[in-house]
Amino acid sequence: MKNECSIVKDLLPLYAEKMVSGDTAAFVEEHCKSCASCQAALDGMRETGPRPGPDDPAPLRPLRRRLKAMRVQTVALTALFVTALLVSLAAALGAPIYAPYSPELVTVEPYGLTGALVSFGGEVTHVSYDLHDDLEEGGVRVCDVEAWTTLWDKWFQKGGGGLSTVVPSGQKPMRIYYVPNDASENICLAVYDPAAQPSVRPDGETRGVLTLPRLTLGYYLILACAALGVGCAAWLMTRKKPDIRVWVERACLYPVAYIVSHCLVTGINWATYSISRDFAFILALSILLYGGLLLLHNVILLKIHLSAPAAPPLPRRD
Ligand SMILES: [Zn+2]
Repeated sequence: MKNECSIVKDLLPLYAEKMVSGDTAAFVEEHCKSCASCQAALDGMRETGPRPGPDDPAPLRPLRRRLKAMRVQTVALTALFVTALLVSLAAALGAPIYAPYSPELVTVEPYGLTGALVSFGGEVTHVSYDLHDDLEEGGVRVCDVEAWTTLWDKWFQKGGGGLSTVVPSGQKPMRIYYVPNDASENICLAVYDPAAQPSVRPDGETRGVLTLPRLTLGYYLILACAALGVGCAAWLMTRKKPDIRVWVERACLYPVAYIVSHCLVTGINWATYSISRDFAFILALSILLYGGLLLLHNVILLKIHLSAPAAPPLPRRD
């Protein structure tokens, strides 16, 4: 039976993994009943568990883990870019479209002893005002009123109309300006004087007051470009040291994300009349894009690593 034993021992690994035909299995079982040596070999095989099958050879596991990480990263990347797209869309839909001045657009009336009531018609869906004292003219109170709508409101809301806001005078004389935010001069809507009767007198003059757009976003953009330039120089200097270069690349991606976000939110423009809103959107978008770019960078590094000759060799079956 020596000959049969060596045949059975050859078959045992396949038998243990149930990869033999019914006849072969019956042959192996029949033999093991009467052969302690083969039975012991089979028991030993079962104790150590089935050997890794061809679908999951141990040397492939790091590779599989990396491929799985890559899949997860790709999903995360897609989610981040979709979110970034939605933020850009929200920025575009919510961007203020300032209403040009017309006498029909806005009216000012006295509002008891408190101040003046400024009311808007037309498509206006948002109103804001800013109060400050004009120190050059003996501390006269100045109120700058802005009114705008957005694409979102135009498309999805019934036109505004009937919006109004109360401007407190603090019992001081006050001039109420409309700020058209189109590089034209502000229009003095009315002069408020608590001592006069009536307290509000329509005006309609421009008085040479101009509200200029803020350029701060332009400075930030220049700063981002400069940072990117410094980053590129650092990359050139460290390109032969992969460990440092990877971090330089990661750092360079933020200015890239910021510049792209700026262009997505405000276009190539850098003068803005709504700086806090624009900057908030640019910041949120740039953080999202940065996350996406970091992931993309990781995926590219992984791909390079996997295709490099240093990657783990494909396992040979024994
Ligand atoms: Zn045997």
